[in-house]
Amino acid sequence: MTVSAGSAGPVAVVGGGLAGIATALACADAGREVTLFEARPHLGGLTHSFTRGELHVDNGQHVFLRCCTAYRALLERLGVADRVLLQPRLEIPIRTPGAAESTWLRRGDLPAPLHLAGSLLRYEPLRPLDRARFALAALALRRVDPAADHTDRQSFGEWLRRHGQSAAAIEALWDLVGVATLNATADDASLSLAATVFQEGLLTDPAAADIGWSLVPLRELHGEPARERLAEAGAEVRTGTKVRAVSEGWKVSTDDGEERFGQVVLATPPPVTEQLAPAGAIRLTPGWSGGLGSSPIVNVHVVLDRHVLDEPFVAGVRTPVQWVFDRTRQSGLDSGQYLAMSLSAADAEIDLPTAKLRERLLPELTSLLPEARGAQVRDFFVTRERHATFRPGPGTASLRPSAITAAPGLYLAGAWTATGWPATMEGAARSGAAAAAALLQQNVPGKKEEGVGA
Ligand SMILES: Cc1cc2nc3c(=O)[nH]c(=O)nc-3n(C[C@H](O)[C@H](O)[C@H](O)COP(=O)(O)OP(=O)(O)OC[C@H]3O[C@@H](n4cnc5c(N)ncnc54)[C@H](O)[C@@H]3O)c2cc1C
Repeated sequence: MTVSAGSAGPVAVVGGGLAGIATALACADAGREVTLFEARPHLGGLTHSFTRGELHVDNGQHVFLRCCTAYRALLERLGVADRVLLQPRLEIPIRTPGAAESTWLRRGDLPAPLHLAGSLLRYEPLRPLDRARFALAALALRRVDPAADHTDRQSFGEWLRRHGQSAAAIEALWDLVGVATLNATADDASLSLAATVFQEGLLTDPAAADIGWSLVPLRELHGEPARERLAEAGAEVRTGTKVRAVSEGWKVSTDDGEERFGQVVLATPPPVTEQLAPAGAIRLTPGWSGGLGSSPIVNVHVVLDRHVLDEPFVAGVRTPVQWVFDRTRQSGLDSGQYLAMSLSAADAEIDLPTAKLRERLLPELTSLLPEARGAQVRDFFVTRERHATFRPGPGTASLRPSAITAAPGLYLAGAWTATGWPATMEGAARSGAAAAAALLQQNVPGKKEEGVGA
């Protein structure tokens, strides 16, 4: 492939997760010639599925919120918006061990943040005094500036304690939402990221936190439709093709040889990006990707011989079982019920053997869902994602580069880049849109060509 100076040249996108898919589609839609390289045999990155006998299994339960506008736009572009369900109104059933029934967190008709007041006034896992203090802290969190450096350097846990939040309130309310969205407990989370999540999700627009999830295996929601839409848009998708090196020019090397492109977008995980980007292209101290780190998520899958949970999901408080999802429909199971327990910030669980997790979590599950007592376990297995997200601790913002690099023609995408969001599907979709916008902006007629045939 030859790139002549003066033309924008073809675009290489490295990495076929949601960020790479969003980038490649946006560039192809703008009329650019695009090649997407993905090391694995399928697209979708950290959102993928496999089969276990007859069962369709996701690597981990994924949910999104109504405020995830970039992700929802990506679903529309992929033609799969009818394969997800978005709650018409936020409602979260919450279970505590031994309780006969759920406590509900529901939104009411008042404007935010009062839309949650009705539920919170009756929120049994919290003492009445803690409920009042929660409201005051929520109002204070609305005023925090997530973009300020000093905000990012603070721990969310410390901030909550300074604002009168007890350990019980942090566990029963703040961490209930925070651990699942940030993949960190309050003490390990940056105040900036936490403020973004709570401001965007719970404190501004009453409808923002309505929860959505896929009705099909993730492969049918992201990877497979992406391949089809990219082909229709004229992009070339090369799965099973690991990029070994990227050098200025821009040359992309794989086991099949070297090719030249006008621009390259690295939509790979941080350590791969640091290794592939030419020295000096990313304005961070070498070793930055190690500093960003990673945080695990574990999903514990249980197939029971009977139906024990009526709701699509429940959240657990005062239990190691954080969230339990009914996976029966998505998995294709035709009798019994398939539940997935999703454990975020799973440092304590990631290396535990399956037998240990079973011994520990099955009694906890039956304690949360009394209906499960006496049910036979037909199958029990665990999926572990050691590098599910970057570690969203205080000071992380300075380790997240933007889409534009110091090397003209080289761009970055990925949920870990500087989106302001934690590592989520929304962050990935936003990063892809930002990388494509930056790349396309550099090539508008009359603008100086950069990075072509250098
Ligand atoms: C178990 C689990 C549960 C989650 N739950 C949620 C949730 O409920 N809600 C939510 O919003 N988010 C959730 N997330 C996070 C979300 O999945 C990610 O933030 C998002 O999918 C990341 O997309 P990405 O494109 O940035 O990165 P990735 O998905 O990591 O994509 C990077 C791609 O680059 C490829 N690659 C790497 N090296 C090379 C190379 N040398 N050459 C070519 N290709 C390469 C990889 O194979 C991969 O496909 C969860 C993640 C996990 C793991």
